[in-house]
Amino acid sequence: MDLPRYDLHCHSTASDGVLSPAELLKLAHERGLEVLALTDHDTIAGFDELKTLNRNQIRIISGSEFTCQWNSRILHIVGLGIDSESAKLKKYFSHLEFLRTQRAKEIANRLIKMGLPDLFSDAENAADGGSIGRPHFARVMLEKGLVSNEQQAFKKYLGTGKKGDVKIEWPDLSETISTINESSGLSVLAHPTKYKMTFTKIREVIAAFKEFGGAGIEVSYPGVTPDQHLHLNRIAKNNQLMVSAGSDFHSPNHAWTDLGKFPPLNETENHILHRLMG
Ligand code: AMP
Ligand code: MN
Ligand code: MN
Ligand code: MN
Repeated sequence: MDLPRYDLHCHSTASDGVLSPAELLKLAHERGLEVLALTDHDTIAGFDELKTLNRNQIRIISGSEFTCQWNSRILHIVGLGIDSESAKLKKYFSHLEFLRTQRAKEIANRLIKMGLPDLFSDAENAADGGSIGRPHFARVMLEKGLVSNEQQAFKKYLGTGKKGDVKIEWPDLSETISTINESSGLSVLAHPTKYKMTFTKIREVIAAFKEFGGAGIEVSYPGVTPDQHLHLNRIAKNNQLMVSAGSDFHSPNHAWTDLGKFPPLNETENHILHRLMG
């Protein structure tokens, strides 16, 4: 069975994307997409808007990219087909909103100690009521001329291991997966090669993910190499997991991503779209 043109991982202004759900939908039309899942970080806030605007032209799948931890490693789980009305999910996301705000305050404090002005209010304004994260700080730093691009903001202040990379108690992987499952969704491990882990470690994570009730893994996304793609396909098969793919689109200004764009998949029989659309 041929798959429709789709993207199962992208961001809007409801988190750290720069396009509103309306603008994203327009771009999805321009790119000829037939299926779209909006997967903002730790929120589903853009979903209703997207649904209302869409008028059934593109099949919209509800989604979110859940930040969680496993053995003190941060992982991203894309939850797809989740029930946006689920009380459990609402409670989960409101806790995450609190956690992210607390973390943003701490990020601002750490940056002050590094000699930067207090950026909390500006970052909060940049997030505009959406899920606040490090990219909002990067954006503000660029606007204020404190860095020459956002990449530099991560390299100097916000990236892994830097002072502004504030660690907090994200939910555990098992809790995240059960929340997604109890909200009628499917859990997908996002971009497995982007956690600076060896393939041995990735296999370990995926075994735990499967045991906790995970449904699939992303095997194609910008930056994945053909070799990594084959490895991930094999791991999916060995663990009886479905495969998924998405652009992780955040902004039209990022030359390396575009909505609906990711390397072609080698195999699609066990694609999660079959389940989501079935
Ligand atoms: P947070 O949710 O606050 O932990 O921020 C994570 C987001 O920051 C990711 O989803 C990316 O959009 C962005 N990000 C992480 N690392 C980098 C980096 N090195 N350069 C640019 N953006 C990054
Ligand atoms: Mn992001
Ligand atoms: Mn991610
Ligand atoms: Mn993402």
